[in-house]
This record gives sequence, structure tokens and C-alpha cells, in this order.
Amino acid sequence: MSGVTQEHSYDIECPHCHKTFAGERIDGGRAARYRGFKCPHCKLFVPLQRATGSDAAS
Ligand SMILES: [Zn+2]
Repeated sequence: MSGVTQEHSYDIECPHCHKTFAGERIDGGRAARYRGFKCPHCKLFVPLQRATGSDAAS
């Protein structure tokens, strides 16, 4: 099994523009709601839950 190469990088699919990018997690203090990524394509904030959650993808 191939391991993760960058522990703090994630493959993100932006829920706004549906493009993928490698995101580095932003730790916005202790509030989990502020954790996430900024999409380089549309500049919108992508919450960590939306980015990595195993929610049913359409
Ligand atoms: Zn985007």
C-alpha cells in the first residue's frame, strides 16, 4: 500500500468550483469551524469537513 507523502497536504476538491488542488491545512486557532483550505482557483474557503469528509459525493 502506498503511503501518504505529505502529512499536512490534502487533495481537495473545491465544493465551489469543483476543481482539485493540493491544500495545506489552515489552523485557524482552536475553532474547528475555521479549519480548512483556501481554493487557489476561486479563492473561496473550503472547510476541512467539506474537503476531506467521507460524505457521499454526487
Ligand atoms: Zn474553488
